[in-house]
Amino acid sequence: MKHAKSLLKCEECGLLYRERKWAERCEAYCRKHKSCSLEIIGHALSR
Ligand SMILES: [Zn+2]
Repeated sequence: MKHAKSLLKCEECGLLYRERKWAERCEAYCRKHKSCSLEIIGHALSR
């Protein structure tokens, strides 16, 4: 298993994502709703 070196960060809430699509969705959601979607957060890295 290889760890990705470049993680994507949601600039709104600070969560880290491995996949760009989720980071972008999170950022768009956070910006629009001023809160996070549990469904999207489920794809974030726990640490
Ligand atoms: Zn976010």
